[in-house]
Parts: sequence; C-alpha cells; structure tokens
Amino acid sequence: MNTPLALTNITNADLHCHSKVSDGTLEPEALAARAKANGVELWALTDHDEIGGQQRAMDAALALGMPYLTGCEISVTFAGKVVHIVGLGFDHHDAAMNAGLKDTRGGRTERAKEMSDGLAKVGIKDAYEGSLKYVSNPALISRTHFARFLVEAGHCSDVSDVFRRYLTEGKPGYVEHKWAKLGDAVRWITEAQGIAVIAHPARYGFTPTEEYALITEFIAHGGRGMEVVTGSHTLADAVKYTETALEFDLLASRGSDFHSPTESHTDLGKLDFLPGRLKPVWAALESRIHHPA
Ligand code: AMP
Ligand code: MN
Ligand code: MN
Ligand code: MN
Repeated sequence: MNTPLALTNITNADLHCHSKVSDGTLEPEALAARAKANGVELWALTDHDEIGGQQRAMDAALALGMPYLTGCEISVTFAGKVVHIVGLGFDHHDAAMNAGLKDTRGGRTERAKEMSDGLAKVGIKDAYEGSLKYVSNPALISRTHFARFLVEAGHCSDVSDVFRRYLTEGKPGYVEHKWAKLGDAVRWITEAQGIAVIAHPARYGFTPTEEYALITEFIAHGGRGMEVVTGSHTLADAVKYTETALEFDLLASRGSDFHSPTESHTDLGKLDFLPGRLKPVWAALESRIHHPA
C-alpha cells in the first residue's frame, strides 16, 4: 500500500484515454502496457459512455504494478452543445451508473444510420456498414469509426480532415443527438463515490457566459474537477484553465486523451505536468485508488 505522502508525489498521472471498448484502437491490456512503458504512475481508462473495459484495465494495470483509478467519459448535452464529463474513482459495479451509461449510449446505432443517410446524399455509399468494420463494441459506434472508414475509402486524407468536411455541425454526416443531462452524469459519478471532472474545457467553443453557466451548474450538481493539462489543450489553453480552476476552486486533472498510436499526437503519459499551484484530483481520490498487491 502506498502511503498518502507517496501519493501526493505522483506527477505522471494519465487519467484520460480510450480503448477498443469505445473509439480507441488498442485493447485495455495494450494501453496498460503502453502507459507503464511511458512512465505513468497512476492510470485511468476513460472510454466514452461505457465501463465494460474497467475490470480488464484495472487487472492489467495492477499486474504491471501501476496504481489504477476507474474512469469513464460521459457525453452530455448542455446549452445545445456536446460536453464531455470524465468520471474518476467511482464504483464500476454501481447499478445507477451502469443504467445511466446504458441509456446514454442507447441511441448510437440509430444516429449512425442517420449519419450514413446524410453521407449517402453526398455520394458516400454504405458508410454505416463500412464503419462497422472498425467497431469492436457494437453498442458504441462513434464518429471516430466513420472517420476511419472514410479515410480508408479514400474520401479524406486523415481523420481530422473527415471531421472538418463531413462530421461536424452543418456537415453532411452530422446528426444532432441528445446525450445525458449534465446533472444526471455528475450524479451517477458522485453517487458511485467518484469525482466528476469537466473534460477538455477549451474544446467547446463556448462564450464566456456559456462557460460560466457550465462551470457553475456543474459545481451546483456536485462536480469538483476540471481537466487542465490534456492532449486536447494547447499550452495557452492549459495556462487559461489553470486560472479558471483556481478561480472556481476546482481540482485539476491531467490526461492524454490517447486513442491510437497512429492518430493521436499525445501519447500516454507524455504531457506537461500540472502547475504546482493546482490541487490534483488524485489527491482527493486517495481512498479510491486501486493499488498493486
Ligand atoms: P461521438 O461520441 O460519436 O460524437 O464521437 C466523438 C469522438 O470523435 C471524440 O471523442 C473524438 O475521439 C473524436 N473527434 C471529435 N472531433 C474530432 C476532430 N476534430 N478530429 C479528430 N477526432 C475528433
Ligand atoms: Mn473519442
Ligand atoms: Mn472528449
Ligand atoms: Mn476522450
């Protein structure tokens, strides 16, 4: 068992990444090995809307001597936009959490078929069937799987290009979708003894007023954390959200958002450390960390 003192010394925590259980390309065990090889001292797998990979990730991490926190990234609709809420340290057997996530991912297949219809109108045939080839978990077809198919089929040069031309608001393959409510997502995590964290806040393109509403409502529902250093932020974003986390007294999180060795520019554990002025979210999750025997 690590002592609390040793825990506060952790700097290379990576608390955000994806496996084949959602839209990553590696199995949970391969991610654990990669995190360990990259020097990660505390790890969490955070698949989208799905915790079916948690036990495998935890078992693999502990076998490698790497402390583990349970994780998940929940898709939420807030002010007409998609916001991601990361849950850390929850009980992955919690019934309400499992039921809530099942509902959240429920509409994905229908949405994917509509996306495919939209793409067919601009001459891209059978995108649903094509994308399914990239899906490991049938309950979790995502835009990322469409992007991989469109690259393979030669419609675009890379995944970012697909998002820009086909899969974002106003583009032919974009389908409006109603995800979980902010309060529900925060409650599922919190009532399962975890901490809710606003993922990559710089990514939403909110106005200052909308962002203020997001943060204050998140806190009112019991949310306590915010990602500051993430593969989805620039250095300038990290500087800005360091101040935001301090202003709202939020715990700070750090994670690569790694999806794939060929698609992700930030590898597991290969990112800046949290600024020393911030309170790391893992210091508040000591009792929730699973330690190697
Ligand atoms: P979905 O949950 O199906 O809407 O898919 C969202 C996923 O698409 C995100 O988690 C990212 O992995 C990926 N994604 C979103 N925007 C982009 C982008 N501009 N470039 C590459 N991947 C993206
Ligand atoms: Mn993703
Ligand atoms: Mn995200
Ligand atoms: Mn993510």
